Amino acid sequence: MSKEEVKGRGKKIKGQIREQVGKLTDNKTEQLKGKIEQVEGQVQEEIGKAVLLKCPKCGYEIPDDSNYCKFCGIRLGSFVTEEFKVAANDVLKRVEALLHEGNITRIVVKDEAGKQLLEIPATMVVMSAVLTPWMAALGVIAAIATKCTIVVEKRA
Ligand SMILES: [Zn+2]
Repeated sequence: MSKEEVKGRGKKIKGQIREQVGKLTDNKTEQLKGKIEQVEGQVQEEIGKAVLLKCPKCGYEIPDDSNYCKFCGIRLGSFVTEEFKVAANDVLKRVEALLHEGNITRIVVKDEAGKQLLEIPATMVVMSAVLTPWMAALGVIAAIATKCTIVVEKRA
């Protein structure tokens, strides 16, 4: 899927979600929570099997976000995190750009109060191209929140 296609899809979903959210009157947080749970379930279903990484030493397949190999025990590097605040309107764009950076393992989106709204297993999403449901969830966030904090986890 090209970047343009992803952009187009994200835009379309965002529009659809804004429309849905516009119909909500109260309990927006509850609605958001429900929607995100639904999306996460969908993603899990779609991904099915986690993306696996081959251990550089023993060659066994281990989960992509492992800190060490559970078979031979070698360390696979540590993670660093970066955090930045964005306007909710820019969340979709920023996350999309981050997903294309490549070495990112996880993206967490928090609301102004620091409450976690969404956690995206970035490598998994990119490699399996299961971008749409996450973009949908981000669309919900963009429509409801005003400011967000994005926490990015990368391999050091
Ligand atoms: Zn190993």
